[in-house]
Amino acid sequence: MKDLAALENWLRCIEARLAQEKDDLNALDAAIGDADHGSNLFRGFHKVWEKLEATPPADLPALFKLVGMTLIGTVGGASGPLYGTFFLEAGKTLPAGSQTLDDAGLAAALAAGLAGLQRLGKAEKGDKTMVDALLPAIDTLQSNADLQKAAEAARQGLAATIPLIARKGRASYLGERSRGHADPGAASASLILECLAGDDT
Ligand code: ADP
Ligand code: MG
Ligand code: MG
Repeated sequence: MKDLAALENWLRCIEARLAQEKDDLNALDAAIGDADHGSNLFRGFHKVWEKLEATPPADLPALFKLVGMTLIGTVGGASGPLYGTFFLEAGKTLPAGSQTLDDAGLAAALAAGLAGLQRLGKAEKGDKTMVDALLPAIDTLQSNADLQKAAEAARQGLAATIPLIARKGRASYLGERSRGHADPGAASASLILECLAGDDT
């Protein structure tokens, strides 16, 4: 079960961890992209944090919409519209005025978010993208409602991107040379799932 405060804490955790780890994410992106993934996401989630401080959203749909719109508006790069769509589509599954999400509702919302992200980006499992961490995590969440196991599935999905050849995004320009590096978007997706699990009480 997650209420509005717990989900706000999720977003604060993401912002705080990005502040710490954005250089590491940039370094992953330097190997197979343009070295900006950590900076891009930190810019977006820091703006989310500022908006939460200024005007706390009244209900869960408003919270997810705020996150989605802010990421689309501020992140830039491939990841901004993708993560933005993830939050927007997740929020659309939630009834107006809702203040809490049970385990099944959370899993269904995140699954709808992922479906939207994949409609936009057209990445499948194995293309070496954020989908490789999000998909196993959300599958795990849907089958047994355990956030710790979902975060572990995301970490395994991230590790599994290392030997893959990128087939989507900037890294795909490298072809064979994208092998041997973890995907930065899968790393940020894993961070996002870890924050969701960390607050589970
Ligand atoms: P950019 O590549 O425009 O600089 P970022 O560095 O912020 O954008 O994000 C790169 C990450 O976005 C990649 O590591 C990958 O996980 C993800 N990504 C790129 N294209 C796609 C796509 N079509 N579908 C899913 N994820 C993608
Ligand atoms: Mg980049
Ligand atoms: Mg870029």
